[in-house]
Amino acid sequence: MTKLIELNTDSNLLVSSKILTFDKPDYVYIPIKTNKILVKQNTKVEIGTILMEDNNIKITSPISGTIKAIKKVMTINGEENAIEIQNDFEEKSEKTPTSKRNLKNISTTKITNILKEYQIDLTKTSNLILNCLDDEPYVLTENFYLFLYYEGFLELLDKISRTYNISNITICVKSSSSENISKIMSYLGMYPNINLNIIPDLYLISKDKYLLEHLNLNNKDTTIIKASTFYNIYNLIKKNKSNTDKLITISGNGVSNPSIVKTKMGAKVIDILNNLINVLPNTEYLTGLMSGHYVDIADLIITNDLNSILIMKPKKYLKTTKCLKCGACLDVCPVNINPLLLSDATYYEKVKDICLKCGLCSYICPAHINFNEKGDNHV
Ligand code: SF4
Ligand code: SF4
Repeated sequence: MTKLIELNTDSNLLVSSKILTFDKPDYVYIPIKTNKILVKQNTKVEIGTILMEDNNIKITSPISGTIKAIKKVMTINGEENAIEIQNDFEEKSEKTPTSKRNLKNISTTKITNILKEYQIDLTKTSNLILNCLDDEPYVLTENFYLFLYYEGFLELLDKISRTYNISNITICVKSSSSENISKIMSYLGMYPNINLNIIPDLYLISKDKYLLEHLNLNNKDTTIIKASTFYNIYNLIKKNKSNTDKLITISGNGVSNPSIVKTKMGAKVIDILNNLINVLPNTEYLTGLMSGHYVDIADLIITNDLNSILIMKPKKYLKTTKCLKCGACLDVCPVNINPLLLSDATYYEKVKDICLKCGLCSYICPAHINFNEKGDNHV
């Protein structure tokens, strides 16, 4: 089993359990992912209107408003073209008001088709794992999906267990998540077919490979679903509601009110900060302290894969490039790369796709060598 480590974190940096909401952005920006755009400039769209589609993808509007233009925006993956929608604040609930829809009456075909949109096939699954684990220090996004929606999640897991005859359904939460543990435990009597597994607070354990190892399961008959994905699936199955909003952690020692924010997809991060977050002067923005990277937030927008913004006072790495030959970076690497050899171009080529970009080698180094700052031979 891979040796994973517990990260030292600043216990003063706690995210408030009060969720902040930013659900009325003036504009949202929806990245263009297909060639088939179904809306034109100046047309009116409702929440849930399909903006673009491809074989398996349907991308819908998260707000009611008017299509304005195609604009360049920043996402976690770099610069992308996006459809700009101006909010008219006339949001109505989506076409089928099925918030009271009873899960018992929903057909297997309907559930199977919705799961297919997320490339999930449960027909051959014996173990279903709901992964509510966050790895990055100070990030609690997946944890809060469970915290907010646990009743619905339990109901849907129960339905799925019966529909696909899945013998083992397990909710995984970190041992540090005491509120979620007590909430789920108090409900388990009602759902004897669902288990709770309390996972040690180790870095990288939320990744499928390490979670499977920890649970002693193999990936052939196991399906792992992240809590954030399960939230979207739950909304589609139970409420016929498309993917319009998302949770994000905004934290770090550069803010005075670290928080979980519920926001619209496609909202600008800068608008969220200006409206809700007290940012201290002279700070830097990262998408995660360990595996994230620095970002320019001016045009950064909320997308499915952006889970956190860490706002930090600048940390000047000591430029002690003098390696102490302690071997810690080599010992800590979960995939057995030797970070000391990364400056060798042949070795770098060999391992660059194996590297998890987890940042552990830089984090552990007592000489403060930052392997992320090594030009072409960085990790
Ligand atoms: S960033 Fe890459 S080289 Fe460094 S510890 Fe992680 S996997 Fe290993
Ligand atoms: S952890 Fe830092 S000091 Fe130790 S061997 Fe690796 S690079 Fe050298």
